[in-house]
Amino acid sequence: MFRHLETNVTSEESKPKLAAACVSCGWVCAAAKRSDGTVVPIGRPQGCDCGSSSFISVDE
Ligand SMILES: [Zn+2]
Repeated sequence: MFRHLETNVTSEESKPKLAAACVSCGWVCAAAKRSDGTVVPIGRPQGCDCGSSSFISVDE
């Protein structure tokens, strides 16, 4: 009975907050850019309601 919990918790670094849009439906939300360049919506680890998890920055 080995129960390994995946601790996917990154360090609490200050992430730059930006606006991002879902590439699929265009839904815009607040997001954070991770160090690897991935844009992730804040508070929505599962991604967009439409099922897409790809977001692009819409700043500027
Ligand atoms: Zn969407």
